[in-house]
Amino acid sequence: TINEMKLQIPGKSANEGFARAAVSAFAAQLDPTIDEIADIKTAVSEAVTNCIVHGYKDQIGQIYIHAKLYEDNVLTIKIRDKGCGIPNIKQAMEPLFTTCTTGERAGLGFAVMQSFMDKVRVTSKPERGTSVVLTK
Ligand code: ATP
Ligand code: MG
Repeated sequence: TINEMKLQIPGKSANEGFARAAVSAFAAQLDPTIDEIADIKTAVSEAVTNCIVHGYKDQIGQIYIHAKLYEDNVLTIKIRDKGCGIPNIKQAMEPLFTTCTTGERAGLGFAVMQSFMDKVRVTSKPERGTSVVLTK
């Protein structure tokens, strides 16, 4: 690793914009295009929002962000919560799959992360939490 950044914030919606801005400031070292920065911001927003609205459904919990920049100019961003976890990751990542029953969510967050980043890796344990690693 050339450089890294760790951030821990309570999962409040007010902090979503902060997480997005902090990661994009870190990513600026990649000398990214405007489009690449926009992609990273969008993917981070989706992952952080998922921690807040799904992981910590009935509580406010901590969100852990760890961004790393590697020698070959690869950027990884790990976004982790200690919330409820995802029982079936494969199903959760399918476009249009959502457990939201109010109609407010489209079930497109993971699809957006996958189309805007080069790689999206999800690991999760029920009642232990979820970790999403985004690579650009
Ligand atoms: P949208 O992102 O379009 O608003 P969504 O959040 O339901 O809708 P995805 O982001 O693709 O869609 O997530 C799909 C499903 O995966 C969610 O409905 C939820 O059940 C589950 N999920 C995603 N992230 C987490 C998380 N951090 N903790 C627990 N469950 C999650
Ligand atoms: Mg989502």
